[in-house]
Amino acid sequence: MKKFTAIMVAFLFLAVSCKKTVESEQKAWEVNLRIANQLAYEYPNFDAAIKEQIKTAEGVWAETAALSDEKAKIQKMADANAQLRAPFIRSLDEIKSLRQTIRTKSTDLRGMKLEYNELMGANQAISNGERAIFDAEIKIKSPVNSKSDADALTTLVVSDLKLAESNIERIISTVKNREAEQKKVAQKTEEVKKAAEEKKTVEAQPIKCGYCGTLNPAGSTTCKSCGAALGK
Ligand SMILES: [Zn+2]
Repeated sequence: MKKFTAIMVAFLFLAVSCKKTVESEQKAWEVNLRIANQLAYEYPNFDAAIKEQIKTAEGVWAETAALSDEKAKIQKMADANAQLRAPFIRSLDEIKSLRQTIRTKSTDLRGMKLEYNELMGANQAISNGERAIFDAEIKIKSPVNSKSDADALTTLVVSDLKLAESNIERIISTVKNREAEQKKVAQKTEEVKKAAEEKKTVEAQPIKCGYCGTLNPAGSTTCKSCGAALGK
């Protein structure tokens, strides 16, 4: 269900992003500008790099006013938006969501019924995740003197967090696979048991003689009343 929702969201996002209009670009601009300013506030070491990026984007945005052709205008607006969504700004945004994902997945994993041999790996993945978040918070405060600094730093932190996230995810799917396998085995055992019980019930039924109608005990081969052979 979660996966399905994610696919639907991705699909909707694609559908929306494919159909660019002046209005949608205007809206995106407002959102992107708000995010960029928010990130500059949250990460003061990135403030200069982000402000410079905003200035560049605003320069591109200003050019849209002179464009009368709608298609060209939309394209230029999209270019300005792309400046606001520069890789390092997107990464800063992604770092926030990755931290949240790691925390959510750790909670999910903690809530799972683990077997003894899974405990160590799970605990390790969870504590690695915590450490990755902690390290990321420190690393992301490193001085940023240029856009390439910003790119390098955010790329590094994103990849550390992604690694920690995928470790937790791997354990979760291993546990889920094991649970599914156990469920399958349990179902099979239950089916076999049920079939055996059914057979036993059938075997325990008295056998009615085809000639005289007398009920004979289960397992009889001849009728106790008339001596006729008891068929199936
Ligand atoms: Zn009989």
